Amino acid sequence: MIYPALKEKISYLEENERRLVFRAYEFARNAHHGQVRRSGEPTINHPVKTALYLAEVTLDAKTLAGALLHDVPEDTPYDSASIRRNFGGEIANLVEGVTKLGRVRLKKSWVPFVRPRKEKLAEFERQMETLRKMFVAMARDPRVILIKLADRIYNMRTLAVIPKEKQARIAKETLEIYAPMAYRLGMGEWKGKLEDLAFPYLYPDEAKAMTQIIKHESAAREKYLKKVQRILAAELIKNNIRAQIHSRIKHLYSLWRKLQKYDNDISKIYDLIATRVLVKTVEECYTTLGTVHKLWKPLPGRIKDYIALPKPNGYRSLHTTVFGPTGRIIEIQIRTHLMHDEAENGIAAHWHYSQSKESRPAPKEQIEWIRELANWQAKLKSPAELSEGLRLDFFENRIFVFTPNGDVKNLPAGATPIDFAYSIHTEIGDHCWGAKVNGKMVKLEHVLENGNVVEIIQKKSARPRPDWLNFVKTHQARTHITRYLK
Ligand code: MN
Repeated sequence: MIYPALKEKISYLEENERRLVFRAYEFARNAHHGQVRRSGEPTINHPVKTALYLAEVTLDAKTLAGALLHDVPEDTPYDSASIRRNFGGEIANLVEGVTKLGRVRLKKSWVPFVRPRKEKLAEFERQMETLRKMFVAMARDPRVILIKLADRIYNMRTLAVIPKEKQARIAKETLEIYAPMAYRLGMGEWKGKLEDLAFPYLYPDEAKAMTQIIKHESAAREKYLKKVQRILAAELIKNNIRAQIHSRIKHLYSLWRKLQKYDNDISKIYDLIATRVLVKTVEECYTTLGTVHKLWKPLPGRIKDYIALPKPNGYRSLHTTVFGPTGRIIEIQIRTHLMHDEAENGIAAHWHYSQSKESRPAPKEQIEWIRELANWQAKLKSPAELSEGLRLDFFENRIFVFTPNGDVKNLPAGATPIDFAYSIHTEIGDHCWGAKVNGKMVKLEHVLENGNVVEIIQKKSARPRPDWLNFVKTHQARTHITRYLK
């Protein structure tokens, strides 16, 4: 029954790749034969659904095979070696990566990034150990995490059949670890999915309220947005721009978070339903922005150019909020098809089956970030150190600053010229004597801001000073300074 769905969803693959996926399916079906999930459905449904989520974002055949086989060594008589024999090292490594991640199951409550009380220390250390394993697995092959995220989406969909006391723990873990992970990997769609699946289990009343709001508002705004789309499309055609225009409704959980920031005033949420305009080129993006502003007046201070200054997770788009026809306030997001794909699918977009042969920017940025994180955590001694570092680097806001040549450096908010210097090179950090921001001399503890151009002045005689440790923000700078001082 599930087989035709798989067949249909992988039609983007070549014949021999499809055969590999089917072979993995047959192997998994045979291995899981007779097993039943708590929900009463055959166990094989779970790996197949996991693979289907990955096929939706058109991942390569090996990832799909890895997804189909991901529970085989753990839950069936077939071990990892037999997968290696039948499917080769690359797929076996993916499966082993997923298995290792799964082995550390979190008990009781998951409370990351909070200093633990003494009696909770063991548990805290276990949790940090899980994260540590995730990073190591990611650095080896980020596709492991993609399989794990897809696996989690399906498990969240069937969470209702799990005993009540476990539901909250799993939902919390999804919200606090898996969703931020998806976000950091640029997978906006999966992040939203994971959050909305966990939301009702943790905040049932709030989730219900958000569903009501969305239902009510989208019914009220539908006609209006259709009109906006018609007017805009007609105007763009005059400029020879063929745009794809659609509306997207905000995810429930992110709406709730945003409402809290705006005193629960729904009239202040302009992107509840955002209009999205997809065009071919970057030039067309800016032309479209001009066209929108010619039609409707923009709200001051709400034009955001994430194309020139992408968000730290790589998100690129132009956002503007305008007084639409009859003066109603609406948000419009403009980007190319490629940017859109990357915004929805993030790191997964880089393993897309490249039928189109469209050239893509190298996936380096996100992968580099993962490598850095894995390298760094491998050096840390205590779980507390890891937790602290994560809170600082992983989840907090980040800024973009520039070298005088225009190279972009991505740093945590609050970073100083010293952090910047070490992010370029250890030598530059060690010999940092002074710094200029936008052409003006600043102190070394000066807090950098998004968009600053930073120039480091070095002197041979300059050396790291102990007081630098009082203000540096990155683990990288801290590690180098400490090492030097020793
Ligand atoms: Mn699984």
